Parts: sequence; C-alpha cells; structure tokens
Amino acid sequence: MKTLIAEDEPVSRRMLETFLRKWGYDVIVTCDGSEAWEIFQKPDAPNLVISDWMMPNMNGPDLCRKIREMEKSGYTYFILLTAMGKKEDVIQGFQAGADDFLVKPFDREELKYRIRIGERIIKLEQQILHLATTDSLTGVLNRRAFIERTEEQIHRCVRENSPLALLLTDIDYFKKINDNYGHQAGDLVLQKFTDQLTRSSRPYDFVGRYGGEEFVVSLPGADMSQSRAVADRMRKSVEEMKIIPQDGSEPIRVTASFGAASLLMDSKENAESLIKRADEAMYKAKREGRNRVCVAGEE
Ligand SMILES: [Mg+2]
Repeated sequence: MKTLIAEDEPVSRRMLETFLRKWGYDVIVTCDGSEAWEIFQKPDAPNLVISDWMMPNMNGPDLCRKIREMEKSGYTYFILLTAMGKKEDVIQGFQAGADDFLVKPFDREELKYRIRIGERIIKLEQQILHLATTDSLTGVLNRRAFIERTEEQIHRCVRENSPLALLLTDIDYFKKINDNYGHQAGDLVLQKFTDQLTRSSRPYDFVGRYGGEEFVVSLPGADMSQSRAVADRMRKSVEEMKIIPQDGSEPIRVTASFGAASLLMDSKENAESLIKRADEAMYKAKREGRNRVCVAGEE
C-alpha cells in the first residue's frame, strides 16, 4: 500500500521511512506540507498519510484540511505527528480532519499498529466500494456505477475532443433459455456472456450490466468504425460460445444483438442520451433479425 510521509525534521523523516519500508509499505517522502500537497494533486495519490504538525510552507493540519476538501475517490487516512500533546491541540487536529495522532518522540510499535488500523479502514472502504459498484452475478459494473464512469469519460472526451462510443447489447431470446434450461443455466449464460464481452473489449473499455440480460460497454477513444469492429468481434465470439450447463447436458448456444452510438461533441450530451441512441440502434438490430450490429444514425 502506498503511503506518504511529510516531515521536515531529517532524523524523524529517515526513521519513518526506514520503518515503513521495513513493514512492506510503498513510501513517498516529502519535507513539508506543500510538497506533500503537490503529490496529492497527481493521480494515484497515496491512501495513507503520516504528517508532522509543524512544517515550513504548509503545516500538517492545513495539509489535512486541503486533502479533505478535494474530490478524490478512495479515503485518505491521515495520521498527525506532534510534539504537542495538549488536549486543545488534539481537538484542533481532529477538527482539521485527522484520523489519528502520534506524539513525538513516537514509539515504533505504536506507530506500526496505528498504521495497521489505517490500512484496515482503507481496505474496508475499498471492499464496500467494490460491493456498491459491482453486479454480484456477473462481476461487471452495476448500472449506477457504469453511468457514473461513463459521465466521467464523456466529460474527459469532450474536454480533449476525443471520440467515445457506447455499445448496448441484449441476449437474443433470453427468456427461452430460462424457460427451457432453468434459471441456474440462465445465470450461467449471463456470466459466460459478460466474460466474453470483457475478453473481446480493449483494456480501457468497461462493461456494465444495464438490466436483466442487457449490457453496456463504454469504448473511450473509439470512433464509429472502431466501435463497429469491437461490436462485431463481440457478436462473433458470443455466437461461437458453447456453454456447458452444470448438469453436463447439451451445450447452450446464444446470440446477441448490438447497438452502437457515438458521442456527439456539439451538444450537451450525457450518458442517458448516448445510451438511448445505442438502445434504439439495438432495437433496430432486433427488428432486422437479431444477431447483428446496428449503428445509430446509419441507414
Ligand atoms: Mg516539524
């Protein structure tokens, strides 16, 4: 786990660094609050901070306040080091948003266990976040998380003037699978289907479950012809799948219909409007006989 040390005093700084590395943490070392704040502006900032109170340029409580004010995914656990152990100071530190304190000169074992508490809280938060954003059956993003991430991508693509495409796909005659083979087999089909979508997508694409047997794929950077190519690859790989039910009976074959839509740069586009156009294209694919890809805006 990535940690950050902010400490202006060289001996204490070196001790902290040595201990943390010895306990297996990735460590970034800074000499004051403003240097630490620089690190925090960058992506992949550390989740755990051990900061001295008194430092030049920016002190520990100010650093903590700034971190608390920023919008950052994932919690930052903040331990303040202080020579000041007075009750008013402790309260002031908590008011700045610190999670914990350590009075200098600190005890090595105490430091170790206080860091462990922080690590436990960070990991719990990550687990909760995972549960809240993942579809439990298929392991892809759930609808809300997919929409949130797509909104972020739309903002980024509009800012950078780069393309983005969205696929909406629906398994053909899925109800029949449940009726003929039972719900357990239906669930297996959904899992295998999403595995196939994930495997056929590019590393920066992301897949979400939109509804029962409806799935969505965001393709950042993909123009219309690339998105058609990805959708075609997915469609073919689904068609070739042989899904063996748990009871070992005859393999189940499925197909899926795909609709693709591209981000419009000249409008106030959002995830909802993009999904709606992909959905219309998908229904066109259904009407035209299923197991095909239709692109929004193409005749
Ligand atoms: Mg100091």
